[in-house]
Amino acid sequence: MVNRSASGLAGTSALAGAAGGAGAAGAPGTSDAPGISVRQLTKSYGRFRALHRVDMDVAPGSFLALFGPNGAGKSTLLGIIAGLVRPSRGQVFLDGQEITKDRDEDLGKRIGALSYQTYLYDELTVLENLRFYGRLFGVENREERIGSLLHTVGMEARSGSPVRTLSRGMRQRVALARALLHDPDILLLDEPYSGLDQDAMVMLKTVLTARNKTVLLVTHDLVRGLESADRVAILNHGRLVFEAETSELSASDFEQTYRDYAV
Ligand code: ADP
Repeated sequence: MVNRSASGLAGTSALAGAAGGAGAAGAPGTSDAPGISVRQLTKSYGRFRALHRVDMDVAPGSFLALFGPNGAGKSTLLGIIAGLVRPSRGQVFLDGQEITKDRDEDLGKRIGALSYQTYLYDELTVLENLRFYGRLFGVENREERIGSLLHTVGMEARSGSPVRTLSRGMRQRVALARALLHDPDILLLDEPYSGLDQDAMVMLKTVLTARNKTVLLVTHDLVRGLESADRVAILNHGRLVFEAETSELSASDFEQTYRDYAV
């Protein structure tokens, strides 16, 4: 069961709580989090095909790491699932509902997205940004939730700073807090590690492996992706060219596989 309450924070279990649940809640496939299914998804920009008939599944509560070279179509795929990019053809299902046909706003609120765009307002402080998004998402116990997330991402001391005065990594920490604010049970993360220091990487890993969310992660970091995910997939030239369970792969095997498929 996904815990929707804000939790008091202390230590690692608190990080899992801030990610939305009461710790390692259930094995992949047994979660209440919705699954993601993509069917024959095609996206064309003029005559150029960024995605070509992609079929992909992320089982409820599981974690898929998606890899691929620059221009493979990864951000386009995430953008379509997040409802930010319109597909040319094909379908996306969240929790069995076809969102490409009829976008249910409540379902949209179950998504937390993090990309190179932080969606933060530069002139507003960290706290003002989180309050703004908290209202937008209709977050209950807003101040408590914001406080616990600021603690999770280690930004309490800078809560009064305008976002424009923060470093890249600090912004990324705040963007992560923003993405988690409404306790989404689907996380769509595009290069979330960029700019993060070692402490923040550890924090993010704890959040991601809380195992109560469906996670689709795009990264170039093969090792980090492999160690956190249940499954890995490789997208190249808009096509899904490889998929496997991480339990079947060693880091060195996967590095070789990536070199073979991502050419
Ligand atoms: P990735 O995230 O794997 O690096 P993208 O999904 O960002 O790849 O882009 C896939 C391809 O689609 C690239 O060739 C890119 O130039 C193209 N593309 C993405 N967005 C647009 C756009 N708005 N207009 C035209 N081409 C685009």
